[in-house]
Amino acid sequence: MAVLSKKSLISLLVLTSMLLLNSCTKQREAEIQFGSVDEKLWVFFEQFEIEGKKRGVDIDIRNLGITGEISEIRDDYVAGTCTYSHRNPNHITIDLNFWNNSDDFSKEMIIFHELGHCYLYRDHLEGRLSNGACRSIMRSGLENCVDNYNRFTRNMYLDELFEN
Ligand SMILES: [Zn+2]
Repeated sequence: MAVLSKKSLISLLVLTSMLLLNSCTKQREAEIQFGSVDEKLWVFFEQFEIEGKKRGVDIDIRNLGITGEISEIRDDYVAGTCTYSHRNPNHITIDLNFWNNSDDFSKEMIIFHELGHCYLYRDHLEGRLSNGACRSIMRSGLENCVDNYNRFTRNMYLDELFEN
């Protein structure tokens, strides 16, 4: 058993709190745990609940038991899928290659799109705005519109997502 002197105990405490501070500023961590969901997706699932609640939609993903993973999807053009099943909870897969090559806005857009299917039971919604940007993040990706999900447009797209 290692006994710490009072002085080293204090410096250990200081060190610990510095580490804690550090980890808080380094990356946003999810406060909610989502059982059978890849931990890297937790922060996005949590944001989905927060943004829904802001718009009066009470969302509890854990209650529905949605599961999620990040793994290779064989189809080159598919970044994410939501699988419906009568016997198992809905399952979200995010493509590993997409994940490794995307920023947080792109990841959020795809994860929210899949949760749009898996949680909100929304279908695809096509159409574009006058600037050519997609009208909804529920676009299929097969029509002629450009994804434009960023810090400036995020609110507009989330209003559309939760209020339809
Ligand atoms: Zn879709």
